[in-house]
Amino acid sequence: SEDPSFWKDHNVQVIIRLRPLSGSEISVQGHSKCVRQESCQTITWTGHPESRFTFDLVADETVTQEKMFKVAGLPMVDNCMGGYNSCMFAYGQTGSGKTHTMLGDIEGGTRRHSVNCGMTPRVFEYLFSRIQKEKEARKEEKIKFTCKCSFLEIYNEQILDLLDPSSSNLQIREDVKKGIYVDNLKEIEVASARDVLQQLIQGSANRKVAATNMNCASSRSHSVFTCIIESKWESQGVTHHRFARLNLVDLAGSERQKSSGAEGERLKEATNINKSLSTLKVRLVIMNLVSISNGKSLHVPYRDSKLTFLLQDSLGGNSKTIIIANISPSLCCSLETLSTLKFAQRAKFI
Ligand code: ADP
Ligand code: MG
Repeated sequence: SEDPSFWKDHNVQVIIRLRPLSGSEISVQGHSKCVRQESCQTITWTGHPESRFTFDLVADETVTQEKMFKVAGLPMVDNCMGGYNSCMFAYGQTGSGKTHTMLGDIEGGTRRHSVNCGMTPRVFEYLFSRIQKEKEARKEEKIKFTCKCSFLEIYNEQILDLLDPSSSNLQIREDVKKGIYVDNLKEIEVASARDVLQQLIQGSANRKVAATNMNCASSRSHSVFTCIIESKWESQGVTHHRFARLNLVDLAGSERQKSSGAEGERLKEATNINKSLSTLKVRLVIMNLVSISNGKSLHVPYRDSKLTFLLQDSLGGNSKTIIIANISPSLCCSLETLSTLKFAQRAKFI
């Protein structure tokens, strides 16, 4: 199942995922779309002037959750099992399918074949099956795995622990030994896909509550699910250690925030000097993340953004990054879709 050709010597893969038109979009505008797929790597934006884009993969609305896992999740887990860090980002405007891609239907429980079950649960099902195989194959080395996960949200440059909502405004720290970490962030040991699913369900429910309490939509926050995979084995009387980080990030909506109608919290948020969730910032942050992944220098100091600061250890070197840029085919989303395609194209050639 290991497919070294997937990365093709690139540390960053960019995949476009097109969601289907919704029932209400069809009832208002019929079946017309703002994009036309040309091949599994090419897509044309059909506005004026028509523009064609090429990516590592263009997944149209017929591509299933299972297939998305196979093309993006599986090589990511293989990379982590090789001892390297991996990051997956879901980018796109609100309503384009980011959460559907990353989580999908998780309430369906651990039922293996729930068709709408998304990337994260599938990634962990595969991770634990690989761990099991590795343990069987390397019995004489007494190989042991420890997996710890955490789930946080970054909203207005504040870190919130989704697995422990009683804590607030957590701080990122740097330590010679530990590297970069979030102080007081709850880390839960997980030993099965079922354990992970439980945390995902709990964390997602907390994300909704937090959004309501802060009077905002979760579309303006980033969520980061991290799993640290530690392995330990013996060989010729020496104990070996290996760490890999797996990060799954559901980014804030990439759409331009409407300034009209902003009031109260919204206004405060809109004028926050950090502008952490403005279109520009979300894009800059991703551009930075992609730059680091490609071993290039930063556009702006990473300390400018909690997300970049937090993930810098997981990027660069031998780590791999996958960006899934989600787009809507609806005519009313035409301009945002174009801007996502342009952005994703830039991310590919950074
Ligand atoms: P976002 O997280 O980007 O705001 P969502 O993931 O919530 O968007 O998706 C918006 C709506 O579209 C949801 O009802 C979701 O179920 C649906 N949807 C998104 N992508 C797909 C897809 N590939 N197939 C079927 N439905 C989808
Ligand atoms: Mg979402």
